[in-house]
Amino acid sequence: MSVNQQAHTGLPYGQPQPGYQGYQQSGYGGQQMPAVHHSQYGAYNGPMPGYQQPAPPPGYFPSLGFPSKGSPVCLNSDTPILAPNFIGALRAPPPSGAPPPTSGAPVPAGQPVYSQFGQGDVQNGIGASAVQMQRPSASQPFIPGTAPTPVSQPATFQQYGPPPTSAQQLTNHMAGMQIGTSSSAPPPAGLGYGSSTSVPSASGSFTATGSGHYTPYSSSQGPPPVNVSHGLPPTSLSPNLSLGQPAFSGPPMSAQHPPQASGFVSPPCSTGIGPSSYPSTTGAPRPSTMQGSPLPGHALTGLPTSQPNHVSSPPPHPAMSGPPPGPPVLGLQGPPPPTHPSPSGYQMQQNGSFGQVRGPQPNYGGSYPGTPNYGSQPAPPPPPKRLDPDSIPSPQLSELPPQQKPRHRIDPDAIPSPIQVIEDDRNNRGSEPFITGVRGQVPPLVTTNFLVKDQGNASPRYIRCTSYNIPCTSDMAKQSQVPLAAVIKPLATLPTDETPPYLVDHGEPGPIRCNRCKAYMCPFMQFIEGGRRFQCCFCSCVTEVPPHYFQHLDHTGRRVDFYDRPELSLGSYEFLATASYCKNNKFPNPPAFIFMIDVSYNAVKSGLVRLICEELKSLLDYLPREGSIEESAIRVGFVTYNKVLHFYNVKSSLAQPQMMVVSDVADMFVPLLDGFLVNVNESRTVIVSLLDQIPEMFADTRETETVFAPVIQAGMEALKAAECAGKLFIFHTSLPIAEAPGKLKNRDDRKLINTDKEKTLFQPQTSFYSNLAKDCVAQGCCVDLFLFPNQYLDVATLGVVPYQTGGSIYKYAYFQLETDQERFLNDLRRDVQKEVGFDAVMRVRTSTGIRATDFFGAFYMSNTTDVELAGLDCDKTITVEFKHDDKLSEDSGALLQCALLYTSCAGQRRLRIHNLSLNCCTQLADLYRNCETDTLINYLAKFAYRGVLNNPVKTVRDTLINQCAQILACYRKNCASPSSAGQLILPECMKLLPVYLNCVLKSDVLQPGADVTTDDRAYIRQLVSSMDVAETNVFFYPRLLPLSKVDIDSDTLPAAIRNSEERLSKGDLYLLENGLNIFVWVGVNVQQSLIQNLFGVSSFSSISSTLSTLPVLENSFSKRVRSIIDMFQSQRSRYMKLIIVKQEDKLEMLFKHFLVEDKSMSGGASYVDFLCHMHKEIRQLLS
Ligand SMILES: [Zn+2]
Repeated sequence: MSVNQQAHTGLPYGQPQPGYQGYQQSGYGGQQMPAVHHSQYGAYNGPMPGYQQPAPPPGYFPSLGFPSKGSPVCLNSDTPILAPNFIGALRAPPPSGAPPPTSGAPVPAGQPVYSQFGQGDVQNGIGASAVQMQRPSASQPFIPGTAPTPVSQPATFQQYGPPPTSAQQLTNHMAGMQIGTSSSAPPPAGLGYGSSTSVPSASGSFTATGSGHYTPYSSSQGPPPVNVSHGLPPTSLSPNLSLGQPAFSGPPMSAQHPPQASGFVSPPCSTGIGPSSYPSTTGAPRPSTMQGSPLPGHALTGLPTSQPNHVSSPPPHPAMSGPPPGPPVLGLQGPPPPTHPSPSGYQMQQNGSFGQVRGPQPNYGGSYPGTPNYGSQPAPPPPPKRLDPDSIPSPQLSELPPQQKPRHRIDPDAIPSPIQVIEDDRNNRGSEPFITGVRGQVPPLVTTNFLVKDQGNASPRYIRCTSYNIPCTSDMAKQSQVPLAAVIKPLATLPTDETPPYLVDHGEPGPIRCNRCKAYMCPFMQFIEGGRRFQCCFCSCVTEVPPHYFQHLDHTGRRVDFYDRPELSLGSYEFLATASYCKNNKFPNPPAFIFMIDVSYNAVKSGLVRLICEELKSLLDYLPREGSIEESAIRVGFVTYNKVLHFYNVKSSLAQPQMMVVSDVADMFVPLLDGFLVNVNESRTVIVSLLDQIPEMFADTRETETVFAPVIQAGMEALKAAECAGKLFIFHTSLPIAEAPGKLKNRDDRKLINTDKEKTLFQPQTSFYSNLAKDCVAQGCCVDLFLFPNQYLDVATLGVVPYQTGGSIYKYAYFQLETDQERFLNDLRRDVQKEVGFDAVMRVRTSTGIRATDFFGAFYMSNTTDVELAGLDCDKTITVEFKHDDKLSEDSGALLQCALLYTSCAGQRRLRIHNLSLNCCTQLADLYRNCETDTLINYLAKFAYRGVLNNPVKTVRDTLINQCAQILACYRKNCASPSSAGQLILPECMKLLPVYLNCVLKSDVLQPGADVTTDDRAYIRQLVSSMDVAETNVFFYPRLLPLSKVDIDSDTLPAAIRNSEERLSKGDLYLLENGLNIFVWVGVNVQQSLIQNLFGVSSFSSISSTLSTLPVLENSFSKRVRSIIDMFQSQRSRYMKLIIVKQEDKLEMLFKHFLVEDKSMSGGASYVDFLCHMHKEIRQLLS
């Protein structure tokens, strides 16, 4: 039996799926599974409709009906109810750390496929389900029997009991686990940011930065001033801090290594599973080579210093009291004199909400070369000093008396404030539920906590749009330049008080669909002819209603079972798919998880291997489960690897695990089938034995080289052999330089930055991985990659397969147990436990007039319409762009229907449907009134981050600026009331577009600092591509909270402040989070008592900046701050790294990178300056 390397490009299976014409995937290889495996698929087609979702809320009111379409709903409320920690409270870690019962009886294999009508409340034993099985009392119409039911279909009323499992369970499990890793990992003395390293003075080179920071924005300029940022010696950082490639040649600096490293050395064979003791499995198709003694390796080691990922650490501001020398280039004009009656310079009108505009400051020299005279009079010549207030270090700044503060030409308080917009939205919209019955309704901002009630449109947690009122014609759309896009998160986790999608089972015939466009039955379909037919809301085709689905219409033309059927009354729901939605018309097997652990020298020495094995022992009890089924249907397998691969037979009947070594990595195959993928409970003893032995087996390894592609191939082949989809969890440490397919070379070259070849840094260095990804997608093999690099490992290439299979990448540079294990373990726990749909295909249908034309995210597409995802988890989004192909009408609006076909964690094939109706307009003003800037930024960032693959970064940046200038110019020209051309007028809904756009432009991908590595940029580029709107919002404009204002007696958070150094007080502490990092910034003048309470030390100087967590202290301030941090952690899809920053410490440069309203050390403009630049661009477009 030869299993290797075959059938990767097999024939398309079966006939095209209904509605998924393009869904052609490779065949399943035809491997025969040993019969024993079939018995393990008992949970298949289990009756539980739940997808580990929260219980339905008591507040579900379908009987309210839809407000009439188009009627405005007053969302403003004077009630300033604000519960900023709403989500956090819901997802707060539970007290219990007890694992769930895992030893329940296996689900019977013979579970009838279509027999689950009404069984949900019978089958689910756990107490919670009793509550959940009942529709909320308010939802009377959903209760079987309350509505007239046609005789032909009584069953359908009973099957969509609410999905029974509480999402809280999931988080409970995650947060509650206390795995015994610490016992093997005594925390050594704090290491970390290399505090001992001296920092060379940077002041000598700072002058170069001067005021030339704006040059990138001038179209006449060359590339961004690389020499400015990159020319700076990395002086601000200790070598340990530098994200650049560390010197790699020296021996390990033993003093900095975690003590565990040595503790791990133990006799490899002492446990009785030494290499020589592995019997060859009889079924092995190839001779397996036994593992020989470890090769003498080069003891490669990187700097063990812990590194914040993707935090830029710009050089320090010199303690400079004078101004940056030299005026900016020519053509500078000052602002008009303050006497100008109607300042035509930089005054802004903001449709009322702009705040006070301060008069132009005479001493401020314009910054953009070539800036036209903004006033009617010549401006004074550039003043000899203080050209650039933003470049003045803040410590000095904040100490100046007010009258000595440098004067901006624009009062920063007068320009649109993200904080104010966020607060206003919370106050206005946070107190009332968002009811989705109204077409084209703009939801509250992602930063507002609000309850959603589905009354016919998908919740904004599933779909958000750049605009909810789209132009009727393509000409209008082109004129406005506002991209029409939807950010879709099909499997989003809902808060526990919102109802997850109901599961609808139409039995054998399957879902009702339009004959022509194959759209699924939804609330917008129009029933006609007494209910015998329906007209499709997407393509207008008329389809017969199948007899079993027939129902009479009431006097309004609505089916009388309207409220009894989710697909008629709700925006989101699920259908149970029939066999015709499955490959080869065969229902799928439950998915499998394969853990693949790098056991090369670095991984072993750092303690990583032991940590992973220890964690897996308990984590395996938390595999995703369907509904309230006690035991996960997911089977697991284990592989370790360096230059060769080791497969493990963990069959339950074995006394000890068996290892099979495959050294022929060029021709990967799976040496064992029976016993590789097993049920955790059945094989628990063998698995635990294996996980105990792996760290010992490789404790003395000297092997430093790794392979990578063969690892993925092996996992994929194993899934193929088992005829299932699944996920690979790969833990990898280094550039795969060992001789094997997919071998890579170090091609990092920072000199390419700001050249036309910069794009190659983002491109994979070989097409090998793209082809491999295609094979993985065909198999439903999703790859999650955990990277622990000590040097460049080419994330751009290694990330191809995770990216195209819908997987995730996690990166822990310079991994150290004591500082990074908590973050890694939390990420791993969440990643293993989170909801995932496998082998998924998503299609977005639209009503006539628009169509989906472009897609952004982590997936694979083999045609122009179907988004294929080997895996899609609850955190991943797909951004879809729409274009006109015809005229739209104001009457009918525009409709979207997103259909996701996927296999649940128990192996059930399902369709999740999300519907959304949008308004259409003939007036541009309506477009601008219904935009959502956060979503727009999500789209623009993804657009730009994809653009850098094929374009010079400068081109991408210019394109973004130009598009936004056109958007705003179009508004100015067509929608704003007549006013002086000198005024910048922004649409209310887009007043934050400039500040957020500037944050995107300054991000590490588009404008890297000197210390941002190529890998970091590739990593962030891929990360952002899958982010939802809330994540991009906080990623680009971090949340900054003053901790001294924390109310220790309340759950309310203090008001956030704007991300500018000017806003920081020396006497305060601040918390800053961006979704990847959390900083605690400590001012030099903070009260001693606060320091004592938070850090447990007596003075500022005693605070250790190497802390990775705050000490657990028994005082209310400490408790409150830690609970806020915990809440933030729970709100994000990744565990954020905590970094303590002391003011004026060298680490402060990392922190300042996130003060995004300020000028950045990498050349990014300050908010004020960028706004002026945008104004100039707009004026040019209007003239
Ligand atoms: Zn249709």
